[in-house]
Amino acid sequence: MNDMSIPTAATAAIKEVVGPNGWLDTPEDVEPFVVETRGLWRGECDLVVSPASTDELARVVKICADAGIPITPQSGNTGLVGGAIPHGGVIINTRRMNKIRDVDALNNTMTVEAGCILADIQNAADDVDRLFPLSLAAEGSCCIGGNLSTNAGGIQVLRYGNARDLVLGLEVVTADGKVWNGLQRLRKNNTGYDLKHLFMGAEGTLGIITAAVLKLFPKPRRRETAFIGAASVEAVQALFSRMQDAMGDSLSAFEYANEFSIGLVFEHIDGANNPLQGTYPAYALMEVSSLRDDETTRDQLETVLADALEDEVIIDAVVAQSEAQSKALWNLRESMPEAQKHARASIKHDVSVPVSKVAEFVRNASKMVIDDLPGIRPSAFGHFGDGNIHFNLTQPADMEPEDFLAKWNHFNEIVHDYVATMNGSFSAEHGVGELKRKDVARYNDPVGVDIMRAMKASLDPNNIMNPGKVLPDAEPS
Ligand SMILES: Cc1cc2nc3c(=O)[nH]c(=O)nc-3n(C[C@H](O)[C@H](O)[C@H](O)COP(=O)(O)OP(=O)(O)OC[C@H]3O[C@@H](n4cnc5c(N)ncnc54)[C@H](O)[C@@H]3O)c2cc1C
Repeated sequence: MNDMSIPTAATAAIKEVVGPNGWLDTPEDVEPFVVETRGLWRGECDLVVSPASTDELARVVKICADAGIPITPQSGNTGLVGGAIPHGGVIINTRRMNKIRDVDALNNTMTVEAGCILADIQNAADDVDRLFPLSLAAEGSCCIGGNLSTNAGGIQVLRYGNARDLVLGLEVVTADGKVWNGLQRLRKNNTGYDLKHLFMGAEGTLGIITAAVLKLFPKPRRRETAFIGAASVEAVQALFSRMQDAMGDSLSAFEYANEFSIGLVFEHIDGANNPLQGTYPAYALMEVSSLRDDETTRDQLETVLADALEDEVIIDAVVAQSEAQSKALWNLRESMPEAQKHARASIKHDVSVPVSKVAEFVRNASKMVIDDLPGIRPSAFGHFGDGNIHFNLTQPADMEPEDFLAKWNHFNEIVHDYVATMNGSFSAEHGVGELKRKDVARYNDPVGVDIMRAMKASLDPNNIMNPGKVLPDAEPS
């Protein structure tokens, strides 16, 4: 177990390295950094350090390593699994490291520091007529260092991949305060182990990402958005299959929602109106994009939807006629987490299964939880095209929220056990953090967990990098 207190000499040395603008230590100043966005997690910490450069950050880590001080890396603090919340030691927050170091439009790359806000990176790509496709609802406040450390997903994974697929090179400060410079801008580089993938998705347990070379893409000239209503999740799956066959790579997003999820949005979110003629058991929102500035893609989309209507695969459909209508449709999807709060307590799951199994999962998992607790209301929505469903369980209307939340682990086990039978994942995009460590022990392959432990012991032998996160506690011997 680490001693979480910070020796006075180390505190003074850290403050000296980062200067007066690089640290905070009063309880009021530290407060926003120890509380998670939704208030579900609260930690403690006496010193928040914000280095202005990789060199400063490496020197701070070296001081911590020498003194055995635990470090919690932090970027935008929008993570949902408690990974950036400290339990003593120091927070090293990368927000002051927010320079775009290089943009190479011909090479389709951009080199950015870890504290760059995701939306700023998207805008910088746009400025050179390129696309950086990572996109999620927290993009105005999350930072690329956090995105890569959680291997974030979002709404365009279907076309462009997860965060780790968008990276060519990385710069990392290791647990002993050295700088690994892997900032190559290369698309081919077979010179040994691909170290960058060790640090992406590691949630700050192996080192601190300080900069990255990101891939850019040609900017789509046209985007078309459609919203459909169907009789079942199986019908949505059938439409997805048709869309993939007909649209291929131009299908950049395909999102699903059940009737309960979207009903809450229509009921509780200001300005959210049903664009369809009725209400249906299942909905899908899709986006297709094209590099050509003509009507071809829209015509193809309309043809697929018209055929699906005629074949009675779907019941109702609307294609956005303007940018404003497209935004309104996306607003329905993005308002779902907010709308759920109005139905009180919710037990969350962020699972993935093979795309071919999504309908089966939604149908069977819904039945399992309803059989277990009649009155429970499954809110199933998410990235259907990636096999990733946010399967959130809303409390029965007549139950006390605390009584329902006391069943959190019970329902996690029902849902995650079922996901495991499909060879699925108990955490598709939010990571493990502190919340899901027990699930790593229960569901990950034991040999894989041993390899993870060996990597941790090798790269961070004194366990100062985000201790208590990701890896489950060791079995008592
Ligand atoms: C409204 C909302 C919508 C969201 N939607 C999505 C979504 O669609 N898809 C998705 O995947 N996630 C989503 N998230 C979760 C969250 O936004 C992502 O996990 C995001 O990538 C975290 O970035 P951050 O900068 O806030 O990281 P933080 O919360 O600060 O940190 C997250 C983890 O990474 C570690 N870390 C942070 N910076 C570094 C670094 N430089 N080096 C090493 N480790 C580091 C932290 O220790 C922590 O374990 C959403 C969150 C919110 C609030």
